[in-house]
Amino acid sequence: MSTPAAPANLMEAIVSLAKRRGFIYPSSEIYGGLNGFFDYGPLGAELKKNIRDCWWNDLVRRRDDIVGLESSIIMHPKVWEASGHVAGFTDPLVDCKVSKQRYRADQLFFAAVVVDGRTIGHVSALESEDTAGELQAAAEALKRKLAVQGALAPVAPRDLTQAAPEEIALIPSPATGEPGSLTAPRSFNMMFQTNVGAMTDASSVAYLRPETAQGMFVDFKNVTDTTRVKLPFGIAQIGKSFRNEITPRNFIFRSREFEQMEMEYFIHEDADWARCHREWIDWCRNWLVSIGLPESHLSLYTHPKEKLAFYSKGTVDIMFRYPFGVQELWGIAARGNYDLGQHAAASGKPQELFDEATKKKFVPHVIEPAVGVDRILLAVLCAGYAEEDVTDEKGHVEKRTVLRFSPRIAPVKVAVLPLLKNKEALTQRARELHTKLKRRYAVQYDDGGAIGKRYRRQDEAGTPWCVTIDFETVEKDGTFTLRDRDTMQQKRITEAELFALLDEQVY
Ligand code: ATP
Repeated sequence: MSTPAAPANLMEAIVSLAKRRGFIYPSSEIYGGLNGFFDYGPLGAELKKNIRDCWWNDLVRRRDDIVGLESSIIMHPKVWEASGHVAGFTDPLVDCKVSKQRYRADQLFFAAVVVDGRTIGHVSALESEDTAGELQAAAEALKRKLAVQGALAPVAPRDLTQAAPEEIALIPSPATGEPGSLTAPRSFNMMFQTNVGAMTDASSVAYLRPETAQGMFVDFKNVTDTTRVKLPFGIAQIGKSFRNEITPRNFIFRSREFEQMEMEYFIHEDADWARCHREWIDWCRNWLVSIGLPESHLSLYTHPKEKLAFYSKGTVDIMFRYPFGVQELWGIAARGNYDLGQHAAASGKPQELFDEATKKKFVPHVIEPAVGVDRILLAVLCAGYAEEDVTDEKGHVEKRTVLRFSPRIAPVKVAVLPLLKNKEALTQRARELHTKLKRRYAVQYDDGGAIGKRYRRQDEAGTPWCVTIDFETVEKDGTFTLRDRDTMQQKRITEAELFALLDEQVY
């Protein structure tokens, strides 16, 4: 008996559980933390690895048309000139000269406060789920404060990139509430710079990669020359990327060091790119469902044509309904042959394939699905978290917190629990089973405390099944109790049945 529910402040609950149970810690916490950086604890590291492994297995190992790659994080600086990142990988930055706070101009909204057709001042608010509502409330407050009579017009929010130069001085800083301290937006390059070698001059400047994708383009010829790939084919990579985000926020959703899973799917220049693009959108969406994300939380956003880069044929984002709003999880872009073309021009090395049919060389086009591992991990935490009232056999109602992870990605697949800690026959059999299971699966042995407490511990870790070794196991037929995390139902099963269940559900 249970009534699943997400608490009102789901993000707070998740951040707290993530810390308490060892999923995610702030980085360098004993030194006060470092904004935009995180550490994954024992359960988090397993969960993240499982997400990566599922993606890699499904995409690279289980398909015949995609190969893997692991390119270096620091690449030749010319890579980032050719890709356009040195000139254009920027966000608009606004400073508050008084508070020293920095904002992304496209996340800082403002509106004129108009009463009976007359502007009496301006209000501002940081982007939120209800920016317009916040601005309207601020406008009403300003009207009251200035004791102005008349009808307040509905606010018309714009972001700071849309402000006229003369308007900037009139917009209050969100930090101080007063106008006059915001600067005009300027471009801020998000690449982290470093120096390679002993010299720290302009000649040694290099960058931590802001995306893994360029590795696939730069190694395109290496892969085609050393493997037997034939169009259409993909090159996939998982790895860390770094962006000096102006405002890292929403826990691990937008951080400065994160992990990407990207794939470049190369197709003939004359191929039906739109169909291929659609197929990859479907593949990505189905894959998210296969690791346990509910369809109801997913939606598609098609980038408007006028906002696309000139070379882009189309971009669709798979959006996820996070507690802080519907946000981009996975971008699937049709990039034409821009990237290979840029690297061919900048390096002087042609990036072409030979078409046997037409006897002509051509530069392949590409479809790029790019997703962040951390954003998927946050999505599975958000979708899986529930607090429930449960009634035990004695009729007592208590709360349980549960993470309903798919068995594919759950950090621990099975917990092995001897009913009693001090009965050697039970603990010996439990140890034996634990040893056997851990050859293939991540499993936990737990003999501490009442069995109900141990179930709760595993519920919070998202463990799909607990097996209990009791007297029936050792004295009768050898079966154990299998307890299901979601239904909390128990049934007796044999060891062979347990392995068959795991084999079917954990892949
Ligand atoms: P956003 O608009 O949210 O900044 P983006 O469009 O710049 O993202 P891409 O460059 O397309 O993102 O990167 C591909 C994927 O990498 C994103 O869909 C997202 O899942 C992930 N990602 C990008 N930036 C971050 C970040 N700062 N922290 C965590 N994940 C990120």
